Amino acid sequence: MTDADRNNEDAATRKAAMKKRKQKVDTCIGRAEEQRGVSILLTGNGKGKTSSAFGMALRSLGYGLRVGIVQFIKGKQLSGEEMFIREKHPEVYFHQMATGFTWNTQDRAGDIAAAESAWAHAEKLLQDESYHLVILDELTYMLSYKYLAEEMVLNALRNRPEQQSVVVTGRAGGDALRDLVDTVSEIQDIKHAFKAGVKARKGVDF
Ligand code: ATP
Ligand code: MG
Repeated sequence: MTDADRNNEDAATRKAAMKKRKQKVDTCIGRAEEQRGVSILLTGNGKGKTSSAFGMALRSLGYGLRVGIVQFIKGKQLSGEEMFIREKHPEVYFHQMATGFTWNTQDRAGDIAAAESAWAHAEKLLQDESYHLVILDELTYMLSYKYLAEEMVLNALRNRPEQQSVVVTGRAGGDALRDLVDTVSEIQDIKHAFKAGVKARKGVDF
């Protein structure tokens, strides 16, 4: 067999494989007919959970769809996304957990109160069908620290409006949450610049 013959054979094999793959994708597309909101969990130790969630907020806003965001984060950590939304997109429902939150087990009662008060905003969004997308950033920690009752959170996610999508971010969060949501992406920490001594970067890390 000459080199040219071999190349032709390779090309034919590749073409056949691609045709097969396309058929498979087309079958999946054909099968995906359900039109409903989805629930997504972005988890894992790698970087990219919150920024991916805000990427979906951008997508929704591009279509003029309503977005609601609750951040279950400690204290005041100003970020570019917060400034952008507050200044340029005041139509976005944006709430951050009270600054009194400490992660300090010595004031567990105070932390629980802060978590519950932020959750009240989340619950309101999850009952309002005018919101196309709801982002519950770092919610998983409220579950792993048992600051919020798991069943209460899962029920609210389960009973949200049919066309509403919800994105939950954060590490851990428990098996029940993983089982409940439609999509789970676990971002792996292969390496991170911070560990090589690079300072957190404006517009990239916050
Ligand atoms: P991002 O907000 O960049 O999408 P994230 O939501 O996945 O990150 P968090 O655990 O919420 O990650 O942490 C937020 C901050 O910590 C960001 O500044 C991010 O760059 C940084 N960070 C995320 N993962 C790591 C990591 N594996 N090592 C060091 N820093 C990290
Ligand atoms: Mg995050």
